[in-house]
Amino acid sequence: MRRVLIADDSPSNREFLRTVLAHEGWTVEEAGDGLTAVAMATAAPPDLILLDIQMPGADGYETLRALRAQAALETIPIFAITAYAMDGDEQRGLAAGFTAYLTKPLTRRRLLAALS
Ligand SMILES: [Mg+2]
Repeated sequence: MRRVLIADDSPSNREFLRTVLAHEGWTVEEAGDGLTAVAMATAAPPDLILLDIQMPGADGYETLRALRAQAALETIPIFAITAYAMDGDEQRGLAAGFTAYLTKPLTRRRLLAALS
């Protein structure tokens, strides 16, 4: 069973992502902040991580660095989910180590396309 970890401080964003991915057969785990996500991914590395950029405490970039610093999480797909859609933001995200950079509002179709 494929496992995805969703890290987003917004319960409604998590609900959207959980609904779409659970329907596609993913086992979904959720964290409301970056540090919790790092602890969960460390304890049991998932197959995919979706990371909100704007979170209180450790933001998506800090969380990404903490995840990528671990050998078991060096190469797994980590997608940024973000409202930042200015010129250069996607390039910055990919350069930082995100596998994909998805801008809000995210639709089911765009999320599934990114996974295919
Ligand atoms: Mg947020």
